Amino acid sequence: MQSPIFPITDDHIHIDPVNGRGREAAKDFLRAGGTHIFLVSKPSWSLSVYPSRGADYALVFDETLRVARMIEETGIVVFPVLGVHPAEISRLSERMPLTEAAEIMKAGIDVAAAYVKEGKAVALKSGRPHYEVSPEVLIASNDILNHALNRAAECRCALQIHAESGLCTDIADMARNAGFPVERVVKHYGSPDTPLHPSLIAKHEAIPQLTREHRAFTMESDFMDENSRPGAVLGPKSVPRYTHQLLRESLITEEDCYRIHAETVGKVYGVKIKL
Ligand SMILES: [Zn+2]
Repeated sequence: MQSPIFPITDDHIHIDPVNGRGREAAKDFLRAGGTHIFLVSKPSWSLSVYPSRGADYALVFDETLRVARMIEETGIVVFPVLGVHPAEISRLSERMPLTEAAEIMKAGIDVAAAYVKEGKAVALKSGRPHYEVSPEVLIASNDILNHALNRAAECRCALQIHAESGLCTDIADMARNAGFPVERVVKHYGSPDTPLHPSLIAKHEAIPQLTREHRAFTMESDFMDENSRPGAVLGPKSVPRYTHQLLRESLITEEDCYRIHAETVGKVYGVKIKL
């Protein structure tokens, strides 16, 4: 393996040593030239956690932090991102009234915010269902998202969101109302036209064009690391692999790589990215 000459950051990846390849997947990222990852907590059910109160999310977050320490042993720099997956509302409300489900999710976000305040994680995660839901569920989900924006504003940390595809202009308005900088709301699986900060899937075709325009974006694989769903999105090598491919094809320069993988990431998440 050649030592990397610039940082390569995947800002939305999951590593799961219980249900997936764990350390081996992380090593794939490293061998492909990756250096930094934002390790996002998985939905509670995928870790066989079935919360009945907000504090139960600590089990999910502690597992994310355990995995983070395990990956760091490989030499990758890991930034944990903790929060409550928006689809939890559908799972929880199968077992309890909607209002109770929403309260548990908000309390889970409070637990994540406490971890950020302790310096154990760098960002929060929230959002709203990306699939069709009833008006009641949508209202409850927006309320949870608003709660997360307020917690992120208090913690002065970035907020990753998982939401329906499209602009999400109203989420930018919600952020402004919460006194939270819109450019620190990271739209996971984003598109270039969103007013939020787009985290683009590594193979997104607009990357060369956006790079030429000096538009701010970050890159992600959304690798799930679940053996039952191999290649559900992209593999763990995707961000370094596509970055190197674009370089080889002279569609981006090394200077662009620094801007995408170090400067932009640093500004959005308030972390220092260096080799
Ligand atoms: Zn994800």
